[in-house]
Amino acid sequence: MTITSLRNDKSRRVLELGHDDGATAEISHQALRSGCRCSGCTAVRRAGGAVDVDAAIALEQITPVGVYGVQLTFSDGHDRGIYPWQLLLELSEIQAA
Ligand SMILES: [Zn+2]
Repeated sequence: MTITSLRNDKSRRVLELGHDDGATAEISHQALRSGCRCSGCTAVRRAGGAVDVDAAIALEQITPVGVYGVQLTFSDGHDRGIYPWQLLLELSEIQAA
């Protein structure tokens, strides 16, 4: 499955993913933020903690990173997370489950 479009629905605070087969999926902004894989958030997780995310967190900006994925900027100022397409697919599957 390939992601062909991304739409940031700021009113519902979800990222909508469009797939090449026409299906769509959603990831909440909160789930995106807590799924961040940057070195800082990964270190928190390795230490046994959870990335603390306010429920009011919002995704502010989507920046393409080549063919690799996207960089996301959140309302708490966190912009270090690179989200490969595969990670977005995994996060959307978690949300649907
Ligand atoms: Zn992070």
